[in-house]
Amino acid sequence: MDQKELETFFRSLDRSLFLEDDMKEYAYLDQPLPIGFGQTISQPSLVLEMTRLLSPEKDSRILEIGTGSGFQTAILAKMSAEVYTVERIVELMEKAKKRLEALNFSNVFYKVGDGSRGWHEYAPYDRIMVTAAARVLPGELVNQLANGGRMVIPIGPPFVQELKLITKTDDGDIQMETVEMVRFVELQGQYGWTEGGFTDE
Ligand code: SAM
Repeated sequence: MDQKELETFFRSLDRSLFLEDDMKEYAYLDQPLPIGFGQTISQPSLVLEMTRLLSPEKDSRILEIGTGSGFQTAILAKMSAEVYTVERIVELMEKAKKRLEALNFSNVFYKVGDGSRGWHEYAPYDRIMVTAAARVLPGELVNQLANGGRMVIPIGPPFVQELKLITKTDDGDIQMETVEMVRFVELQGQYGWTEGGFTDE
């Protein structure tokens, strides 16, 4: 990954574009902020760090779980070939899609549903980014990760989780390391903390 390109784009991306009017004035803060529906946009320094960990390449196909505001999606889309992004809340997805289209991203594909089960039609993915806290490592995401691929995922209970870097070797073996402690909203769905009432099953 081109670190300089990542940092330049990251600095140029106006976070206020991804926030509702009443939150725009706080966009510069290095803090998570509410985006509605009990969800948050992550703190910018963590978005940058997780992108570095994921380390997308220009030809990568990325699966992102938890579109939220679309801020992380924009960064992934800039740094890769294609981003397949899944969000469970239709209103958040509609807003994120509008923002990303206004920024002229044509390499992002959108799905509303339970992302904890991945998006099998377009698998395998070179990179998988999960931005909500899973209860366990979702087996279907592991299956959808390409050999040689990387996945970044917070795993653990509400309030504090371990940020995991999962790597799949060229032979398909799985390696897992804990990077640090983080705090994300809960992943819902089959591998999340509640069933979530999905309609796409
Ligand atoms: N990366 C996002 C951003 O830049 O704004 C922030 C993501 S927010 C911390 C987590 C998102 O995951 C929420 O929008 C939530 O609705 C979504 N989510 C939770 N469980 C999900 C699931 N099973 N499938 C898809 N999205 C899910």
